[in-house]
Amino acid sequence: MPFSYVSHLSCPKCQSVYSIDEIHQLCACGSPLLVKYRLEELAFSLKPSDLMTRPSTLWRYHEWLPVQSEDNVVTLGEGVTPLIPMPRIGREMGIAHFYMKDEGVLPTGTFKARGAAVGVSKAKELGIKALAMPTNGNAGAAWSLYAARAGIKATIVMPVDAPEITRKECEASGANLFLVNGLISDAGKIVAKAVEKGQLFDASTLKEPYRIEGKKTMGLEIAEQLGWKMPDVILYPTGGGVGIIGIYKALNELLQMGWVEGPLPRLVAVQAEGCAPIVQAWQEGKSISEFWSNANTVAFGINVPKALGDFLVLDAIYKTHGCAVAVDDETILAEQRRIASHEGAFVCPEGAATFVAAKRLRENGWIKDGEVVIALNTGTGLKYPNTIHREVPILQPGDALAEDI
Ligand SMILES: *Cc1c(COP(=O)(O)O)cnc(C)c1O
Ligand SMILES: [Zn+2]
Repeated sequence: MPFSYVSHLSCPKCQSVYSIDEIHQLCACGSPLLVKYRLEELAFSLKPSDLMTRPSTLWRYHEWLPVQSEDNVVTLGEGVTPLIPMPRIGREMGIAHFYMKDEGVLPTGTFKARGAAVGVSKAKELGIKALAMPTNGNAGAAWSLYAARAGIKATIVMPVDAPEITRKECEASGANLFLVNGLISDAGKIVAKAVEKGQLFDASTLKEPYRIEGKKTMGLEIAEQLGWKMPDVILYPTGGGVGIIGIYKALNELLQMGWVEGPLPRLVAVQAEGCAPIVQAWQEGKSISEFWSNANTVAFGINVPKALGDFLVLDAIYKTHGCAVAVDDETILAEQRRIASHEGAFVCPEGAATFVAAKRLRENGWIKDGEVVIALNTGTGLKYPNTIHREVPILQPGDALAEDI
């Protein structure tokens, strides 16, 4: 059996086809490219129980990942992340089957490790020696560390106010790091100019086709963890949208292979009120989003004013009868503390946003009684130490604690 059943790259807009063995970025028409597999053939030679003895990393799904030779796999042991019941919070929300998929346990602390593991592995396979990318921090951290492991030079451009720890991760990896006085969209323009000179591979979100394949494994894991059954609702904090597009792609591939039965879960794109282009487009029934001016939120990973794959995100929402919800920063931060104090999980603000959205959708009846609901926590709260502040009493040696604690 081949290590991968990958077949070709295909354009979701104009249906052009490209070879998997050459370096490609966007389609000639400007659209992101998607990876296609020989799924019928795969379904014929592999069955779900064959996975049972495989290691607990995302590479357990190597047949429908794009890396063709096992020798090119660059791994830090990423995946499989736990699907954790949230009984207390679920009870308070009136959602009896409420789970959190916790991506905070991955290398580099966020689910960006999935995209980096698969994207960097494929870059290595294609013989790429140097890559560049704009980032809000977490992707740059993951890609620079995986690139270091692969012996690939990484050039990273991020906003000055991106979470400081992500900057340190890039520095530790030895990447070329630049800060821009602006947004990720400004960083993107700087990277595009550098790439034009021809020496660098552009690893920007969706400008290379393989990051999405790594993120797809979140969907594969959810299906496997539920015994190859579909949940009813998946809530995802959506920035560039690769995660939600990837989950949608994964579940469709499993449907095609006959490993799960429909209907697909309703996908919910969760954004911050300070940057909600997808929510606005969904409310207006549009198939693409408008650039969001003055984007600003504490949930930095979803501070993306215009996503290249917006049309794919919106398509996934419409096709699954999902929806899009915006939540404000103050509520996100309060929820982050509530999740830690009720369930012991210190999640990132992006993850906390999905809990707020679940609560609202249950209140207005969109989530129904008895439904199985999964909230994605895309990273650990440890990456955002500044979201929690409280004046803590300082004692002198010999002091006693107050009586009323
Ligand atoms: C990047 C990021 C997101 C958004 O992910 P997309 O797949 O680009 O939509 C959400 N949460 C965190 C913590 C992130 O770093
Ligand atoms: Zn095209």
